[in-house]
Amino acid sequence: MEMKKKNNNIKCSVTQCKHNMVTENYCGLDCICVGTHESNPTVPECTNCDSFVKRTSSAQG
Ligand code: SF4
Repeated sequence: MEMKKKNNNIKCSVTQCKHNMVTENYCGLDCICVGTHESNPTVPECTNCDSFVKRTSSAQG
């Protein structure tokens, strides 16, 4: 069973992601990759966590 460990350095509120700690707004990965879907990003909304993986209803991640 995969044990998730909160990474104090990566805050995240995306609970739909399987890497999210859910009970606390933190990511459980050691490292994440951030990217953008824009050719010329100007605001935070232009950026994405490329490490996001959709949580499935059957597994807690
Ligand atoms: S992988 Fe990205 S979206 Fe998922 S919990 Fe970590 S920081 Fe959040």
